[in-house]
Amino acid sequence: MSKPSVICIDLDGVLVDMHWGLVRLFGDDPDKYTETQWAEVGEWGLSIPKGDFWGKVRSQGIQWWLNLPKLPWTDELWAAAQATGATCVVLTTPAPFPESSYGKWQWVNENLHTQNILIGRPKEICAQPGTWLIDDRAGYGPRWEGRGGRLLSLKRPWNKDGLSIGEILKILKEAC
Ligand SMILES: [Mg+2]
Repeated sequence: MSKPSVICIDLDGVLVDMHWGLVRLFGDDPDKYTETQWAEVGEWGLSIPKGDFWGKVRSQGIQWWLNLPKLPWTDELWAAAQATGATCVVLTTPAPFPESSYGKWQWVNENLHTQNILIGRPKEICAQPGTWLIDDRAGYGPRWEGRGGRLLSLKRPWNKDGLSIGEILKILKEAC
């Protein structure tokens, strides 16, 4: 397996527990959620009855983004990616308002101690041979790999066919 020169890592659902924050914001207790309920939340919490979804998120300001927790593997995943020697960058699509971009940038600075963050879309314009993407959305596969990159799809309740975090950490270790 060839070594990556660049590793792009998605933020929401991979490094930051945005889904936890969304469930809480929309009135449920995320700490009582079952695997089945998480699967229903899905990418961006779109199955939560939400009304003005983005309006409600935006009303929380930048601080809402800054207060989102890490996932249990965040530090280990970021360190493992860096240990490969590849250039590591957070690659994230913002919500459609500036507080999101501001908060994401600040979160990455404070929690990962890096300014290697690209905020925008479409993600696949960053794909090329030697560039890996770690993401919880399997749908990026054809677009990313069609440009010669490699997708490591992270298994989450809403992405059951993905690789477990343990499998991804093993692949990164083997790429060192
Ligand atoms: Mg994601």
